[in-house]
Amino acid sequence: MNVTSIRNDFPILNQTINGKPLIYLDNAATTQKPQVVIDRISDYYKTINSNVHRGVHTLSQRATEAMENARITVQKFINAKEHREIVFTKGTTESINLVAQTFAQQFLNEGDSILISAVEHHANIVPWQQLCKQKKANLLVIPILENGELDLSNVDELLSKNVTLLAISHISNVLGTINPIELLIEKAHKKNIPVLIDAAQSVAHETIDVQKLDCDFLVFSGHKMYAPMGIGVLYGKTDWLNKLPPYQFGGEMILEVRFEETIFNELPFKFETGTPNVEGILGLETAIHYLQKIGLKQIAEYEHKLLTYATQKLNELSGIIFHGIAKHKSAVLSFNFQGIHNSDIGAILDQLGIAVRTGHHCAQPLMENLCVPGTVRASFAFYNTKEEIDMFIEGVKMAKKMLTM
Ligand code: PMP
Repeated sequence: MNVTSIRNDFPILNQTINGKPLIYLDNAATTQKPQVVIDRISDYYKTINSNVHRGVHTLSQRATEAMENARITVQKFINAKEHREIVFTKGTTESINLVAQTFAQQFLNEGDSILISAVEHHANIVPWQQLCKQKKANLLVIPILENGELDLSNVDELLSKNVTLLAISHISNVLGTINPIELLIEKAHKKNIPVLIDAAQSVAHETIDVQKLDCDFLVFSGHKMYAPMGIGVLYGKTDWLNKLPPYQFGGEMILEVRFEETIFNELPFKFETGTPNVEGILGLETAIHYLQKIGLKQIAEYEHKLLTYATQKLNELSGIIFHGIAKHKSAVLSFNFQGIHNSDIGAILDQLGIAVRTGHHCAQPLMENLCVPGTVRASFAFYNTKEEIDMFIEGVKMAKKMLTM
């Protein structure tokens, strides 16, 4: 991989922050956008902007065609069987809420359970928790081991407790743990329990094949995979999506409306109410092509090298406490030092032009489990370099020294 040339694709990286070259290590929160994605959005507005699906005029037809081609690109990217299994949403959070409000409203009854894990992002906790309260159902949690891996010792028992859905992240945004989703899907399916995979942290780092995984739903956000904000995807198997009621009501999701009654549109439009985010959809398509050109396998290998290097270097610092040392990890590093607040380290790093995330990372139950208020989190992308990691380590050393003086 030619990282120098890749870095040139990302104009935002070429700047100084607080007088220092920007080192962007907050990729788990959002990734930067390559010029091709920025150009695609700009070209859309310069050439074919118009509302989709209902227009007979040429621009509308061009915009519609571009949008529907992008749906096929997403379909192929995650190897979905049919393009109507791809529903465009605002992002992971909206996709999960969509399933919670449609699937669970339909199938979750009093006394049933939703099963999640201890490492989930709030987006994969709160929608289920609120629904369980409404329905007098139970929210069950797969616990974790000290190294940040899921504790699967009682998972069969948990799956036997009237579970209506297993909703689980592929990769933890705090610990970087790659969860054994293949095994969990197999176990859940043996008990006829459908599975939703939160792929927010994996889709840009691992090859996703929904047919091979055989998951029932899979959700992700464009902005974590080099695409714009405000666009995301819900994948659902056709059989499931057909069974679900619409999520929201209005234009686009209808075939026919009379004051007395409405006939809803077919898949996937039944779930896409109102004018869609066409610029986001086209940006997502270009981001996918960009990733495919570099190669997800090459990306995963390179990012893993960065992770190994950074872990080794950080490990040399006395008093470091790593959160998440699972065997299978993606390029996310969470850590603390005894007696130092995570946000103080983040603030000093920022003065050096180094962007990391600090705090609870939208995973407060996990923080409680780890007995910390938050962590410092560095998350890497394929445009990061070993030299940047060296600067980051020097920055952490300096912060540690300043904060223990
Ligand atoms: N799940 C995971 C694992 C995440 O990392 C995130 C974003 N940090 C989300 C869900 C929510 O994604 P979004 O804010 O894009 O909806």
